[in-house]
Order: sequence, then structure tokens, then C-alpha cells
Amino acid sequence: MDYEVLVQAYEKLEATTKRLEKTSILSDLLKKTDRKDLSMGCYLLQGLVFPKWDERKLGMSSMLILKTLQRATGTLKAKIENIWRKEGDLGKVAEILIKENKQQTLIQKKLTIEKVFETLQKLASLEGQGTVGRKVSLVAGLLTQANPKEAKFIVKTVLQELRVGTAEGTMRDAIVWAFLYKDIDYDRQANQLSAKREEYERKITCVQSAYDITSDFSKVAQIARESGEEGLKEIRLEIGKPFKVMLYQKAQDISDAFKTVGRPAAIEFKYDGIRLQIEKKKDKVILFTRRLEDVTRQFPDVVEAVNKSVKADEAILDAEAVGYDQKKGKYLPFQFISQRIKRKYNIEDMARKFPVEVNVFDIIYYNGKSLLSEKFENRRSILRKIINEKEKSIVLAKQLVTTDEKKAAAFYKKALMAGNEGIMFKKLDAAYRPGSRVGYGVKLKEISEEVDVVVVAAEWGEGKRSAWLSSFTVACKDGDKYSPIGKVSTGIKEKTEGVTYEKMTKLLKKQITSQKGKVVAINPEVVIEVGYEEIQKSPTYASGFALRFPRVLRLRQDKAPKEAITLEEIKTLFAKQKK
Ligand code: AMP
Repeated sequence: MDYEVLVQAYEKLEATTKRLEKTSILSDLLKKTDRKDLSMGCYLLQGLVFPKWDERKLGMSSMLILKTLQRATGTLKAKIENIWRKEGDLGKVAEILIKENKQQTLIQKKLTIEKVFETLQKLASLEGQGTVGRKVSLVAGLLTQANPKEAKFIVKTVLQELRVGTAEGTMRDAIVWAFLYKDIDYDRQANQLSAKREEYERKITCVQSAYDITSDFSKVAQIARESGEEGLKEIRLEIGKPFKVMLYQKAQDISDAFKTVGRPAAIEFKYDGIRLQIEKKKDKVILFTRRLEDVTRQFPDVVEAVNKSVKADEAILDAEAVGYDQKKGKYLPFQFISQRIKRKYNIEDMARKFPVEVNVFDIIYYNGKSLLSEKFENRRSILRKIINEKEKSIVLAKQLVTTDEKKAAAFYKKALMAGNEGIMFKKLDAAYRPGSRVGYGVKLKEISEEVDVVVVAAEWGEGKRSAWLSSFTVACKDGDKYSPIGKVSTGIKEKTEGVTYEKMTKLLKKQITSQKGKVVAINPEVVIEVGYEEIQKSPTYASGFALRFPRVLRLRQDKAPKEAITLEEIKTLFAKQKK
């Protein structure tokens, strides 16, 4: 298929914020895409050339794109920089330059999806001497064949800044519309669907579950097209490919927690560390974070511990790696070990300085068998059987099974005394549901007045702080967008669990999308945990609510923006608080 067809879809997607319209554009395109191009098309629609969890990177910075544009169009660097300054977006710059250039050249052969996709994939595989030059030539080659619009989207994809609004929910719905209905009439879609709500929801859940297991819409779309719902239900976990871990709701107090999960409940320590998916096949171990990043290289100590102590040919475990103080043996807050996630050098040193203990709390796959629909208590007994526990290396999460609120309260206290964040309550006969917050487990934490929010704007400071961003507008997740809910400017002290203005500035600077006076708009990427006194109704912020006396507690680089608190949850918190 011609790349141009995809570009037309990008443009239509860019032009609307309406979710149904986006779904319709996407599903139209998916339906038209032939078998050979479907997988590539799905990736490109999401601005990807590999599954989300794949480690491979294209490795092209803005500066390299600048060079590429020079090469492709023969324009002087100063001129390109000028246009860039004016437009603020290199995709747009590419469009302008190619347009100017094309007045002289005749369009040659049309670009295909395959050509673009394969060239971009190739970027990730280059290594060694001359890599930079070869990358520039490859992309410049594409740009000289591209029309202006194509050039714009190639550049945006290479820079991983596509942003046409193909969020997960929209992709999922589009696959349902395209492949799980014979004929869907979009104009009358709302009526049609409300008449068959249940059927529609079943199909949505089916695609969502397939995605939660594979984290790969290309694969899901192919299977949906070829073998429909039946095929999707057959999708199995595969070792080496991450899935989305199960999430937990918040409980207000102990009796509220029992109410959700039933009695007796399994109560566990809530360790404040890094969630790890541990995948083992013979002696090969792969580790993924909850954001599906491969961190195997960063945790050689965990790999070794798993190899030594997990007696299984094949297993997928769900665990929390928590840091501890080597002298006192007490657990340390997440912030101490968070630096290990992104670490590229001196990894062994870091492992020695910030050792972790792996606390395994679930098992999802064991020697060829998926345990997703097995009861939690049975999964736990498999864990007991196959893990050779070793303190400060790998252990099972501390657990108490009880019906008794007093015993639960004592266990809670014990958890806090040992330096944990709180406790988890889990339903004994529940299955494991990847990716969802179904209430099979709930968390109870010491301070409940804190929320994870996303930074969407900031202000440059005054005087001494003029090089730092120092006042942050934070937002909650509101459907496909992020709606502001307050401004935080206090709370960052020199030692607020490792958060400094400098660090915040460094992180946020990369996400700035525009600037007006001292205020910058920021791409919603960075999640922070904010404490507050109260939630109030407020006309000032788009969410309709404001956090009173907010303060920054810590960075949550382990969380994706879509994991931030939702507007719905804010409304519930507001209602509960009124009570
Ligand atoms: P939160 O990050 O506040 O949403 O709390 C849920 C997180 O607690 C999970 O994603 C895990 O990373 C972590 N956690 C710590 N201990 C446990 C446990 N015993 N069971 C499940 N999750 C745990």
C-alpha cells in the first residue's frame, strides 16, 4: 500500500479530537490495508516500528534530523534552523523544505508503507563505525522520495513524536469495528451499538484482553481479521514478551478492603519498590517493568537470584524488587533504587550500592501452562513450591490469611514498622487479570491524601531559580486527554526523596511543546506523586476540581501517564471526603 494512504489518515486523525471519528478513520484504514501491510500499518499508525516493549531504538535526535534535512534538500543549516525556530516542529520544517525542493524535481516512484517501515527498522539495527552517517543517508533517501506531507510524518515518526491521537483505547475500538463486525454503519453507529450494547462490550473486552496479554496491536489486529473472537481468545502468554500487569484499587480502611475482596482475605506487605515481571525459560531470565521496559541488563543481581532460587523450567512471576539498607537491613523507599532502572553504565557498582530483595507475589505461567484463570491461593501454593527463599535475595511476599480485622490491623502495623508503604488485600479465589484494576486486590496505604498526576505546564523561576522550571501545573487523566487539577510549587526541598528543581527541569525540558512568556506547555509524560489536604470544586481548572495545598512528594518515573489518577477517581475521592 502507498504510504500516502497512511498519511491521509494521519491528517484526518490530526484534524479531529472526537474519539468516535478517530475510531472510524482508523478502522476504515485497517479494513483497506491488505494482509501483507496490516502489521506494519498498525505499528506506523501508533508511531512505532517495533512493539511498544521492544528495546530497539531508532536513535535519531533532532540534531541528526537537521543534518538529514540538509542532505536531502541541500538547504543551508542556518535557514533550516530559522524555519525550525519559527515553526517549532521539525516535521513541519521537513514539509516546508520538501515543498520548496519539489518545485524543481519530478516525483519519482511512490513510497510504500513497506519501504518506510523497513527503512526505519533498519535504523535500529545499525551499529559500529559510520552509524550516524548511514542513518542520515537512509532517512535522507526516504525524504527525497517523499512528497511534503509524507516527509512531515516520516520525520515525526523517526523522532517518535507522531502524536495524532491513536491512544490505546481508540486502537482497540478500531480493531473491533474493522474486524469483529461484518458491516458497521458508522453514521448510525451509535444507535446500532446501543441496541447491542452487551455484544459490543464483549467484543471490546475480547480485544482488550488480547492486547493485555500481547501488548501488541499489530498481532491482535492480524488475529482479529483472520480468526475473529475465537482466535483472540486463543492467544496465550509467551515467555520473552511482556504483558500488562494486574493493577489494584485503593481501599479507604481495613473493613472497606475486606468488603471488596471478601473474607478470608490474603493480606500482604505492600513493598515500596519496582514492579518486575520476571520471565524465565531454562536459565534465560528476562525482566520487564510495569511500563514494559526491558531492564534485564540493569538487574544482574535479580537474574542471578532467580536462576539460583526458582525451580522451574519456565515461569512468569510478578514481583516487587525493594531496596534495603545494608547496615540496618530495613527497607528503603523506592526513590533510592529508582536510579537503577535507567542506568546504562557501572551497573555492577549500582547493584552493590543499592541492593534489592525480590518479593514475589504472583505467578502467571508455569512449565507450559498459563495460570491466568487459576485461583490466587493455588497460584500462591505453586510459588511456595518452586521458590527457594533466601532473605535479602528472593522471597515470597509476607502474607497473612485472615478474616479478622484486629489481626489485619496488627499486620498493617508490622508492615509499616518494617519500612513498607502499607498492605495489599487479595481475593483468594480470584483469577489474574492482566492490565486491569478489577478489584481482585486492593491497596491500603498510610497516607491516602496523595495522587499520581501528570505535569502539563510549568513556569520558569525568578532570580536565582531562573534556569529552573519551578511551578508545575498538574493534571488528571480525563478520557483521552489530561485535565489540569492544580499547580504545585512547594514541596521540592533539596532532599525531597531525591526530587530537585534541577532534576525536574531536566526531565521536563525534553517535553516542552511551546512557550509563552515564562509559561511553557509540556507534553504529558512525567508523572509525579502529589500530596494534598483536600479536593475542592474549582472553576479555575479544566477538570472542575483543584487540589488544596498540593506538595510534590516524589517522581513516579515507573508510571506511565495513563496510570495517573482519573477524573472519575477524583470525583469519587471528592464524594468520600464530603461524607
Ligand atoms: P500503587 O503503585 O500505589 O498503585 O500500588 C500498587 C503497586 O504496589 C503494585 O503495582 C506493585 O508494584 C506494588 N506492590 C508492592 N507489594 C505488593 C504486593 N504484595 N502485591 C501486589 N503489588 C505490590
